[in-house]
Amino acid sequence: MELLSTTYNLVVSYLMTIRVTDVIDMAIIAFVVYNILIRLRSTTSVRILQGILVLLIIMGLSDFLDLRCINFLLGHAVEWGVLAVIIIFQPELRRGLEQIGSRTGIKQMFMREESVPAIEQAIQETVAACSEMSASHTGVLLVFEREILLDDVLRSGTRINADVTSELLKNIFFIHAPMHDGAAIVREGRLLGAGCMLPLSKNVNLSRDLGMRHRAGIGISENSDAVVVLVSEETGAISVAVDGKLRRHLSAETLEKFLRNELLPQGHEAERRRGLRDSLAGLKDKMVRNGAGNENK
Ligand code: ATP
Ligand code: MG
Repeated sequence: MELLSTTYNLVVSYLMTIRVTDVIDMAIIAFVVYNILIRLRSTTSVRILQGILVLLIIMGLSDFLDLRCINFLLGHAVEWGVLAVIIIFQPELRRGLEQIGSRTGIKQMFMREESVPAIEQAIQETVAACSEMSASHTGVLLVFEREILLDDVLRSGTRINADVTSELLKNIFFIHAPMHDGAAIVREGRLLGAGCMLPLSKNVNLSRDLGMRHRAGIGISENSDAVVVLVSEETGAISVAVDGKLRRHLSAETLEKFLRNELLPQGHEAERRRGLRDSLAGLKDKMVRNGAGNENK
C-alpha cells in the first residue's frame, strides 16, 4: 500500500513538472514524425526502413551476446549509414522541404477536409467523361494521387492546375490532342498535369493482353497509394488499378462507387449514405401516406 502511494506521489510530482510548452513540444514532434512516415510510405522506402530496422536489431543482439567483430563492423556501417540514408531518401527529403517551404504544403497539412467537395466533383466528372470515352474507344490514364505525392511524375508532363471537368478530360485524352499520350494527375480534386510518364509494372504475371497503358497504370499503383482509372482504346473497357491490382470491365456505377470509397473520407461517405437512406425512407413514408389518403377518399 505504501509502495502504491509512493508511486502515486512520484507520478503526480512528475506530472506537475510538465509545462504547457513541453506538451506543445511533444505535439509538434509527433506531428512532424507522423508526416514524415506518411511521406515515406512508398513500398521501396518501407523496404529500406525494414532493412535498417533489421540491421539495428542485429547490432543490439551482437552487443548483448558480446559478438565484438560483428558489433564493430555494424557500428561503423551505421555511422556511414546515416550518410547513406540521406542520399537514399534525398528525393523524399527534398520533396518534404519543398512542401514545408511552400504555402500549399502547409495548407495541405491542415486543410484536407476542405477539398472534399472538389474531390466529389472530380469523381462525378471523371465518371461522366469515362462513360463517354468508353463508348468512343478513347484511351484514358487518369491518376488520383492520395497520401504519397507524385511530384516527380508531374515534372515529366505538362502542368495544368484546373478543376476536373468532363470537357477538360475529353479534351486531354482526345486522340489528336497534343497531351493525350501519357497520364493525367489529379490531386485533391484538381487536375494538376497531363502527358506524364508513369513507371511500368514489374509484375511478370500480368495478362499478356495488357499493353503499356495498363502496365503503366498498374505500375504507379504498385509504387504509390494512387487510384488509377483506365479506359482501353482497343476495347473501351473501364478499369481501375489500386495496390498493383487491376479490376477490369467496370460499369459507370461501379466506377463511381469505387472512386467514392477510395477517395472520400470514410465518415463523409457514411454520412452521405445515411442522408440518402433517410431521404428514401421519407419518400417511402410519404408514398404510403398518400396511398392511404387516396384509399380513404
Ligand atoms: P489500350 O487498351 O488502350 O490499347 P494498352 O494497355 O493496350 O491500352 P497501349 O496500346 O500500348 O496499351 O497504349 C499505349 C499508350 O499508353 C501510349 O500511347 C501512351 O499514351 C500510354 N503509355 C505507355 N507507356 C506509358 C507510360 N510509361 N506512362 C504513361 N503512359 C504510357
Ligand atoms: Mg493497346
